[in-house]
Amino acid sequence: MRPEILNPLFAEIETLDGVGPKLKKPLERLGLARVRDVLYHLPERFVTRRAVKDLDEAGVGDQIVVPLTVVEHRSPRNPGRGPYRVLAQDVLGNICALTYFGRASYTAKKQLPVGETRWVAGRLDQFDQTLQIVHPDHVAEKSADAMGKMVEPIYRLAEGLTQPRIGGFVEQAIAKAPEMPEWIEPNTFEREGWPNWHDAIALAHKGENGKARDRLAYDELFANALALMLVRQSNRARRGQALKGDGSLRDRLELPFPLTGAQRRSIDEITGDMAQASPMLRLLQGDVGAGKTVVALEAMLAAVEAGAQAALLAPTELLARQHFETLRAMAKPTGVEVALLTGRDKGRARESILMGLLDGSIQIVVGTHAIFQDTVSYKNLGLVVIDEQHRFGVSQRLMLAQKGKVTPHTLAMTATPIPRTLVLANHGEMEVSRLDELPPGRQAIDTRVLPLDRIEEIAAAVGRHVESGQQAYWVCPMVRDSETMTDDIAAAEARYAALKERFGEDVVMVHGQLAPELKDAGMARFASGDAKILVATTVIEVGVDVPNATLMVIEQAERFGLAQLHQLRGRVGRGSEKSTCLLLRSNELSETGKQRLALMRESQDGFHLAEEDLKLRGGGELLGTKQSGEEGFRIASLEQVSKYIDMANADAKLLVEQEGGLESARGQAARLVLYLLERDWGVQTLRGG
Ligand code: ADP
Ligand code: MG
Repeated sequence: MRPEILNPLFAEIETLDGVGPKLKKPLERLGLARVRDVLYHLPERFVTRRAVKDLDEAGVGDQIVVPLTVVEHRSPRNPGRGPYRVLAQDVLGNICALTYFGRASYTAKKQLPVGETRWVAGRLDQFDQTLQIVHPDHVAEKSADAMGKMVEPIYRLAEGLTQPRIGGFVEQAIAKAPEMPEWIEPNTFEREGWPNWHDAIALAHKGENGKARDRLAYDELFANALALMLVRQSNRARRGQALKGDGSLRDRLELPFPLTGAQRRSIDEITGDMAQASPMLRLLQGDVGAGKTVVALEAMLAAVEAGAQAALLAPTELLARQHFETLRAMAKPTGVEVALLTGRDKGRARESILMGLLDGSIQIVVGTHAIFQDTVSYKNLGLVVIDEQHRFGVSQRLMLAQKGKVTPHTLAMTATPIPRTLVLANHGEMEVSRLDELPPGRQAIDTRVLPLDRIEEIAAAVGRHVESGQQAYWVCPMVRDSETMTDDIAAAEARYAALKERFGEDVVMVHGQLAPELKDAGMARFASGDAKILVATTVIEVGVDVPNATLMVIEQAERFGLAQLHQLRGRVGRGSEKSTCLLLRSNELSETGKQRLALMRESQDGFHLAEEDLKLRGGGELLGTKQSGEEGFRIASLEQVSKYIDMANADAKLLVEQEGGLESARGQAARLVLYLLERDWGVQTLRGG
């Protein structure tokens, strides 16, 4: 149960004055549904304004407060289209347009009567030779002093909201925030000189305040570390089954290759865990092509040898199908029954699989979420393998663990090269095995960075490549959920048209907006060798294997994360021919941008790339994780994660292992931060276990 002291913070956002049905939507778009969310809607930056007597004192782009006299209101010619303009002049007679879009014009009509003088705060812009201020932040009847020289927070907005509106809600939310006991370890708290939670929240909204922001970031890391620690602890206390295979099935495998050292080591670590009664929680990290599948198979066969069943969960239907085919073929000599179960299976076929799982005649099942639905019962599920685990959150992992009378062992697999610090942060409840060695015989991919203006030369090279009988990928960037998305589609379409003009029917295109049948058809033509050039957005990341495709061109390579580039590049270099990857960069590239692309040229090691990218980006956003829906940190920046993660882990460990956990006095306080930062699944496991 959530501690009562937090109730005002978890109240619906409508409990704030001024939030009605109209504003609820835009607030929701910002993820603000409860008072708590408003508190943690921290400013993106701050502006400092300057009070000026007239516009000659200000330059375009300045944040100013200026007295203006209203001259005229101009409605858009077509109502509903174009902005609403209020023309005003300063004491020198300079004209400035106050520009409003959408519903904001109602406010303008009220606030700016013709002939009156008002103090207007906002950013001075220029449009068609006219000075203008778009959506002034403030319009007041008097007092420049109160408005001049002021530091004002700037929040992320959604349409229908203004800075003052959000600012007002934040103020109310702060007023509702209770004083709370301290959960941070006293020595750490003293040493860092942090404000208490209540002050930190208030200060973080008021102005640049490193200590306040650091403390709030630390809270998040601490809550996360603590929750993971509790999960781990309760997992240890759970009843699982010791599965000790005798090797009888694994001995019958007829693998066409010897296992790598890394594979053997990982298999030993996994089967070692499975032989213990407490349920395994292990993450298998391995680059694309490192050979995770066979490791999973060995683990699953060990479970079957010990009389249990194993399930492999894939993130998509397509991947489930691929895994099923591969595993069934590999497992054939063992005589083990492997089945596929996805949401598409209906009727009799589904019934018979469900029967097989219940009576134990199916020993290994591969599928999507469908394999964990309530209607699916197992005779004795002993091992769950989750592929591409970054798509599943901790809470989902916990849900899986509840399946069955005894808790199954869990093996999660990921190809995302997560840097060490972040593995700790996101998967701290798990042990880690790493496939840090690729199977022998893989050829390095010749990677080069070229400026976009050499495109003509590059297209000619693609032509020669295709004439030699090989195929090529041409990748265009497509940034999801971004304003530039339509531009990206247009650019990709244009590139496709240009290549088609040159190479005719040899070119196909697939992108995310395409209907699935068209996408499949395009891919099929390319896979069969009928089409020679595949123009694609990042949709080729998952599940394409065309060994004859040995050239990849990536446009605007600087816009991709390194991990993403690395995964894309992994689509070539699959056959016996030498492969090439050309990274096209735009002309104005930042120093960091240059360094990042240089890294791609120098390294083929996903882990190394991820670690280096983390260093280069510093406070930026981590590649690969946000795109794939990893539950990340909302408050802590990457820089803060690196800086405080070890401290937060040590702090959580101290609390759990030496200070009596959540029952102690500090533990009671820590309970608050778990709920406050929505890591209460940590508390819940504790209760469940
Ligand atoms: P991933 O880790 O990306 O899932 P896969 O398991 O799909 O990698 O393996 C990639 C390819 O490497 C497969 O064709 C697989 O048969 C092959 N492979 C796996 N292990 C070895 C090995 N030890 N030696 C040679 N080839 C291997
Ligand atoms: Mg795989």
